[in-house]
Amino acid sequence: MLDRGAALRLTGQQEHNGNTGDGVSKQEAAEGVEIEIGGLSKIFGQGAAAFHALSDINLEIRTGEFFTLLGPSGCGKTTLLRVIAGFEQPSAGSLKINGKEVAGLGPNARPVNTVFQNYALFPHMTVAQNIGFGLKMLGRPRAEVEATTAEMLKLVKMEAMAGRKPSEISGGQQQRVALARALAPRPRVLLLDEPLSALDLKLRKEMQSELKRLQAETGITFIFVTHDQEEALTMSDRIAVMSAGRILQLGSPHEIYHAPSERFVADFIGDTNFMDLPVSAVEDGRARVTLPGGQEAEARLPEGMLPVLGETVTLVIRPEQARLVEPAGADLVAEVESAVFFGTDTHIHLRLHDGQGFVLRRQNTAETPDPAPGSVVGLQLSPGALRVLRS
Ligand code: ATP
Repeated sequence: MLDRGAALRLTGQQEHNGNTGDGVSKQEAAEGVEIEIGGLSKIFGQGAAAFHALSDINLEIRTGEFFTLLGPSGCGKTTLLRVIAGFEQPSAGSLKINGKEVAGLGPNARPVNTVFQNYALFPHMTVAQNIGFGLKMLGRPRAEVEATTAEMLKLVKMEAMAGRKPSEISGGQQQRVALARALAPRPRVLLLDEPLSALDLKLRKEMQSELKRLQAETGITFIFVTHDQEEALTMSDRIAVMSAGRILQLGSPHEIYHAPSERFVADFIGDTNFMDLPVSAVEDGRARVTLPGGQEAEARLPEGMLPVLGETVTLVIRPEQARLVEPAGADLVAEVESAVFFGTDTHIHLRLHDGQGFVLRRQNTAETPDPAPGSVVGLQLSPGALRVLRS
């Protein structure tokens, strides 16, 4: 753990010079909006070749939060990060950092720093020299460079390797050095572009908790780019789900997972079952739907949505929100197609009476026999499991 003094030094300093940040006071962290983006778009190319990489982005990122941009390849995550960093300029719209308009300013005039996917460490410099390099370039006094380097080495637990070259340390250790180098000038905001993608799964998990620890201890706003939904769910305070240059949904991991607003978000975040069902009644933000097999069930409606009676709506239900029961009196009855064992849980692939597919995830708390393919089972839905998606 970073000693309390070091944590306060990181968050409390109020200096500003070149691309260094002002530090962030505890009060600011509790109250502030760090980044405010309004009506922002980015178009690459011109005329017939024009490509809208970002369209009408509106976003507020709070001071001190771990914020994630999540979406499939090509959705515009990196472009948005590069616009915030100042490596790209927006085609339209505004971008404020700590209340100051920065659209048009270059990277050096912004209190942000970036950690790149490939670390970009200088191979001929030692770990310590890499960490202190940015501060040296900013003309900071030698004593300050040395003190901050020592503090950063401690923060990322690399004191013992200060004298090694990047080629003499592992991938995970290189990642730590890249983080320390980016944190050394005390930016207000740290931008991280898929920084864990080059690491193997075990190291990736370790670095995920390392990043969370660093963010909590420094109080710096982290903006993290990933296409990995599990990484986004486990690490973030809030997530913006992007598709085709737009933000489709913004919310906490719980909101994004349990209350996806549209099909793309539901499909992208976690495994999902979709069912198209007719509405038989609507009241108080809820709809009654008729399940295949004739049972009635309640489903939550997205805010403001008012389907007409008889209309077919698309519902989402997560695979862990249904359990196997006897067919008599069950919400749904289905035929088992296959059961796939994953160790911690088993995925049971089913076919409902109306022909729609359904996957149920059962946690393996004890050695329970898998249902045989071809057998008929009942499903009981958890209360509140059904949600209608916005059409
Ligand atoms: P990935 O996860 O694969 O890195 P991404 O979501 O980060 O994807 P971006 O790199 O932001 O996606 O790219 C968004 C879109 O903008 C892509 O279709 C890409 O081809 C296009 N694009 C990015 N940079 C440029 C450029 N300089 N000129 C033209 N098109 C570009």
